[in-house]
Amino acid sequence: MRCERCGSKAFERFRGKVYCRECFATRYIGAVESCVRRYRMIRDGESVLAAVSGGKDSVAMLSALNGLSKKMNFEVSALYIDLGIGEYSRKSEDSVKSLCREYGIELHTARLEDYGFTVSDVSGKTCSVCGNVKRYLMNRFARDNGFDVIATGHCGEDILSNFLKNLYSGNIQWSEKQKPRLDGYDRMVTRIRPLYEMSEKENMLYVLARSLPFVEDECPHAPPSTWKEIVYEIERRIPGFRTSVLRNLARERKGGNEVFRYCRICGEITTSEICQFCRNIARFSKNQ
Ligand code: AMP
Ligand code: ZN
Repeated sequence: MRCERCGSKAFERFRGKVYCRECFATRYIGAVESCVRRYRMIRDGESVLAAVSGGKDSVAMLSALNGLSKKMNFEVSALYIDLGIGEYSRKSEDSVKSLCREYGIELHTARLEDYGFTVSDVSGKTCSVCGNVKRYLMNRFARDNGFDVIATGHCGEDILSNFLKNLYSGNIQWSEKQKPRLDGYDRMVTRIRPLYEMSEKENMLYVLARSLPFVEDECPHAPPSTWKEIVYEIERRIPGFRTSVLRNLARERKGGNEVFRYCRICGEITTSEICQFCRNIARFSKNQ
């Protein structure tokens, strides 16, 4: 088979057409650009801090942002968070380093160890502690260093599977936070999801098409991906389901109550007296 755009050797199908590697990558970047523009994710001249874990999704995101930054007039730097998950964290950091070197992108690193504990010390709800730690460190790092926007590599399936999980557990209001662009307020920095409408498979194929370094291993603490499998199954039976629901979810809804206060210990925004991050420190840190 031949590329439908240029006639070179075929690589893969993208949204209905067969492309070679180069044309696949071009079409992929074009789709990310449309998504960023559709939801007005980045404003003129903004500085974007891309949170890169070294996995295929955030690697694809960093590459796409790098490709769009001149054309759309924004700046990109990368942030890697060292969560202290043994060999997995070391491998991921090396991979992100070599990607940033290849692109000439400045890489910043935040280490959870500096707060007296690592994810390996966490007993019990590891993933929820890890999620809290990542959001907290991204926000503080971006704010302390003057970045306008934090970008994460969440893709369509991440957002839909979280939505179903929230629906199941009665926390549907949490899905308000899963917008393509969540404007900052007070001490919270704006967050964007440039891959909001991209699928995991598209991200993987892009990374392969460009031969970008990425870490294939799953985090050793990752839970079984039952909700994602359900999302795939619905998409298989109702083609177009993913995009349709994502676009409905992205619509503005009024009535969110942003009642918050400041953590008594660190001063970050929280809904309780002491924020979840400081409670995690109190529970797991060896620094006290
Ligand atoms: P996850 O919470 O693991 O599904 O990751 C969601 C997004 O958070 C990724 O696409 C990255 O943008 C970001 N992220 C996750 N882990 C890290 C990390 N160790 N360092 C920097 N960013 C991360
Ligand atoms: Zn081609």
